[in-house]
This record gives sequence, structure tokens and C-alpha cells, in this order.
Amino acid sequence: MASLTLDPHQHTLHKTVSCTGVGLHSGNEIVLSIKPAPENSGIRFFRTDLGDTEGVPAHMDKVVDTRLATTIADANVMVATTEHLMAALQGYGVDNADIELDGAEVPIMDGSAGPFMLLLKRAGLKKQKAMRHVLRITKEVVFTAGDTEIRILPYDGFKVSGEIHFDDSIINSQSYSIELSPEKFSKEISQARTFGYVEQVEELWANGLAQGGNLDNVIAIHWDRETILNDGGLRFSDEFIRHKVLDLIGDLALMGCPILGHIIAKRAGHTQHLAFMKALIAASDCWEVVEMEEKGSHSVFHQISSTTKAMGKQFMPFFVPQPVRTHHAAVHAS
Ligand SMILES: [Zn+2]
Repeated sequence: MASLTLDPHQHTLHKTVSCTGVGLHSGNEIVLSIKPAPENSGIRFFRTDLGDTEGVPAHMDKVVDTRLATTIADANVMVATTEHLMAALQGYGVDNADIELDGAEVPIMDGSAGPFMLLLKRAGLKKQKAMRHVLRITKEVVFTAGDTEIRILPYDGFKVSGEIHFDDSIINSQSYSIELSPEKFSKEISQARTFGYVEQVEELWANGLAQGGNLDNVIAIHWDRETILNDGGLRFSDEFIRHKVLDLIGDLALMGCPILGHIIAKRAGHTQHLAFMKALIAASDCWEVVEMEEKGSHSVFHQISSTTKAMGKQFMPFFVPQPVRTHHAAVHAS
């Protein structure tokens, strides 16, 4: 038993909200709608341009590409650049929502999660009856790959720390740490934009990639490595690491449920985030899945069942709720 600030209930939105923006890869205009969804359905992406197809669950098992952004797919339905929207949903506290797109990618907007946070605030959070299931870290897990190190430690909350080291004077070494709450996420992280060296952006264009990328949605670092090309300058002096933390939060949201733990990522990107999540799930003696409960003004949790660990991957998508419910019934009855 532990006392937490995390609301024990699942949440969706009060109403549907929409926006239009360009896709980073295609440069095409894309309409995005975020709709309320039932309990235990999780976040699902639907492609309205493909007709009546099944949605793609926003889950780590569906990730097919992590090179420039995180792309998920199921059968022929593909959605690219999920991370900033997923970060906003996680940061605001949305467990269940249906995302509709009329193209193959989430619009890049201004390169941050700020516009999505504004949309979500307009929709408003709606509390649902079902309780949250969270992944609670019980033992430290360390993942390393080359220069990258990602570790997660037991913690009664969700804390995210990041660290980057670049060989230039504008980024250099930066670190940032945040104990996640909707207010803090909105204020400190959501508005941090994606970034790249100007010659990297040019190379992407030369290869027909990032056609929608421009100074309105990506920070372009000058050849001099001391300034940026964008008018208005940086939104935060450490905007770069704040954006890396944003990306990490968005990718971790693909676990399919909130996490109780402190994650510390050094020199990590989308590819390493995914590899870390796989390593974490494989380390099944280092975590448990707990259902939250209401107790006065506090939230508490109890372990669902140690046998759920053995179910590993099959269990993790809590939007496939059947096995979870069966276990809950057994726990509550005993
Ligand atoms: Zn990003």
C-alpha cells in the first residue's frame, strides 16, 4: 500500500476536438480529431482516409519504425510521428481516446506538444468508473546501448529525467528532471520544440523526407553552432533537453498504462526508448501491475496478481482488458 497523487480513475475527454496541420514527412495537410473513448480501450489511432479499417492501438508492440519519429502500424494501417500527441495525452492524464487522422501521420503543428495540450484542455478531462492499472517498478532496471544509458528505479510517482551531450556551444550538456503532473507538463515541457542541425534538415529534404519541416515547426541550429535560424529564438534556454524529455514521455506512453517509477535517460532517442521498453517488459521480476483504489483523499494500489507477470506482453496492452478483468474479479473476491 502506498499513498499517491495520481488519480486512481481512468479518464477520457468530455468532447471531440479537432485541428488541422501539415505532416512532417509528407508536407500534406492532415485533419486530426481526438474523441472520447470507453473505459479500458486505451489510445487508438484510426485512418479515416482508408475507409472502415480497424484502429491501431498506441502500443509498443505496434512500433514499426523509430528512425526520425515513432511510427506504429497494424496490417495496412500506419501512423507516423505519434510521440508529441502521445506525450500530451499522457501529460494531461488521458487513458482512453480515439484519434482520427485523414493521413498517415500526426500533424507536426509547431514541433511541440503545446497545440495538442490546448486542444485537450478545450475538450476537458472526464473521469471514468474504471480504475487505472499502472506498471509499478519494484527493482531497478538498467539498459545500455553504445553511449546511451536508460535506467528506471522504484518511485511513488512518475518522474522523468533526461541528459544530453552535444559537441557544440548551443546545446552542449543539458539535463532536466520533472515529476509529472498536468500543470508541470503543460508549463515546463509541452512547448519545447523538436530540433536539428540545419544541414541535417537540408539532407532530409534532399532525400525527399521531412517535406513539411520548416522554421515554424523545427528549431534549426545554425552552421555556427551558436545560434538558431528561427525568428524569436528559443522558448527556454534548455529547450533541447526539454524536448528530449517530451519525446521520452510520448514514447513511454506506448507501454499502454501509467508507470510508477523514476526513469533517467542519457543520450537516448526513439530507437533506444523502444529497446528500453522491451528490456523492461522482459525484466518481469522488476515490476508488477497494480490496480489503483480510492481511499479517502488518497489513492492506494494493490498488486493484481503475481501470475499476471507471467503473461508478459499479452497482459500489457490493457486495452485488451479481458484477462485483466478476470484477475481483478479473483482479487476482489478473495
Ligand atoms: Zn520530438
